[in-house]
Amino acid sequence: MKVLVLNCGSSSLKYQLFDMENEHVLAKGLVERIGLPGAVLTHRPGSEKYVIETEIPNHQKAIELVLQALVSNKHGVLKSLDEISAVGHRVVHGGEDFSGSVLITDAVIDALRRNIELAPLHNPPNIMGIEACQNLMPNVPQAGVFDTAFHQTMPPQAYLYGIPYEYYQKYKIRKYGFHGTSHKYVSQRAAAMLKRPIEEVKIITCHLGNGASIAAVDRGKSIDTSMGFTPLEGLMMGTRSGDLDPAIVSFLMEKEKWTTEETSNFLNKRCGVLGLSGVSSDFRDIENAADQGHERAQLALERFAYMVKKYIGSYAAVLNGVDAIVFTAGLGENSALMRVKICEGLDYLGVKLDLDKNYTRGIEADVSADDAKTRVFVIPTNEELMIARDTYEICRDLK
Ligand code: ADP
Repeated sequence: MKVLVLNCGSSSLKYQLFDMENEHVLAKGLVERIGLPGAVLTHRPGSEKYVIETEIPNHQKAIELVLQALVSNKHGVLKSLDEISAVGHRVVHGGEDFSGSVLITDAVIDALRRNIELAPLHNPPNIMGIEACQNLMPNVPQAGVFDTAFHQTMPPQAYLYGIPYEYYQKYKIRKYGFHGTSHKYVSQRAAAMLKRPIEEVKIITCHLGNGASIAAVDRGKSIDTSMGFTPLEGLMMGTRSGDLDPAIVSFLMEKEKWTTEETSNFLNKRCGVLGLSGVSSDFRDIENAADQGHERAQLALERFAYMVKKYIGSYAAVLNGVDAIVFTAGLGENSALMRVKICEGLDYLGVKLDLDKNYTRGIEADVSADDAKTRVFVIPTNEELMIARDTYEICRDLK
C-alpha cells in the first residue's frame, strides 16, 4: 500500500510518498512560493532532482502538480494515481478535539475550522490541502495527524495557566504543546534503543530546531512540554522569545506604541537567538560567530543551553527520574557543541557524555559514556514516517 504524506504551509507544501510494505520513500519534494511570483516544485524521485517552475496560484494547483510529477513518464514513480491508497496530512492544531490521528470526515473538517482561532497561520493551509485532495482524489481516504495530539495526555496541573478558569472555558486558553509527532517518534525510538518497553521508561525529548521544544514522556505519554497555548512559550528559539515575564509585553507595547500584530511579529520573528546575538537565527552562523569571538553570539548560545538545561532539570523533577535524554531536529541532531553545553553539569542526573561518541551527526547514536546511569541519545526525527504509519493504520482496511 502506498501512502502520500502532505505537510501544507501557508505558501509551501512538502510531500513524501511511502511504500508501506517496507516503509521506503519512493519520492519526495517541496512546492515553494504558492500564490506568489516565482513558484517552484522540486521533485526528488531518488537522488536526482527535477525543478519545475510554473504559476502555482493555490494549494489545489500545487497538489495537482505533485500528482502529475508522481505519475510522469520522465520522473514519476507510479504508473497511475490509483496506486495511492491513502493521504496523510500533518495538521498543526487539533485543540482539545483530537488526542490521536483520525480519518478525515466532514465533522473533522468542521472541528479544524473551529480551531482556526487557535492556529490562524497553520490550520487554514492544512484545511486547503485536505479539500484539494478531496477534489483531486475523491475516493482516496485521508487521515489527519496532529502536532498537538501527543500532548493531550498532559494533566490539568501541567496544561492550565494561572489565570481565571473561566478563560480556559471561554477561550480554551491552556497549554497545548507542539512537535508532538516528533516527540512521540523519538521517544518510541529511545525506548527501543534502551531495549525496554516504552511503558516502563521515563524520557526527556529535546526537539531543537529553528522552533524548539522539550517534552517529559512518562511511560509513553507526554506529561508536560515547553511550548504552550502557541509555539511561542518555552525555550528561546531561532526568532521566538520563549518564556518571558508577561508584563514585558504590555510595557513594550506602551513604550513602542505597537499594535497587537506588531507585538506578535516582534515576539515571533525578531527575538530569540537572532535578537540576542544580533547575528542570525541560524545556529550554524551563531556558532561560527561565537568561534570568532563575537560576544553576543556566545551569550545567545549560553542562554539557549541554559534554558534547555533548566527544562531538563524541571522535567526530571516531574518525572521523578529519567532513563534517557534525546536530542533531535536540526540543532539537536547536528551540534556536538550544543549537546556538550547542555549536558555539562547534569552529572547529578547520571548524565555523562562520551565526547568522542558525541561527535556524531544525523544518525541514531548513544552518545553517553558506558558507565552513565542516564543514556543520552541522538535520534534523527522522522515526522513523515510517523504520519505515514498512522495513516496506514487508519486507512488500510478502508479501500
Ligand atoms: P525547523 O524544522 O524548525 O525549521 P530544523 O529542525 O531544520 O528546523 O533545524 C534548523 C536549525 O538547525 C537551524 O538553526 C540550523 O542552524 C540548525 N543546524 C542544522 N545543522 C547544524 C549544525 N551542523 N550545527 C549547528 N546547528 C545546525
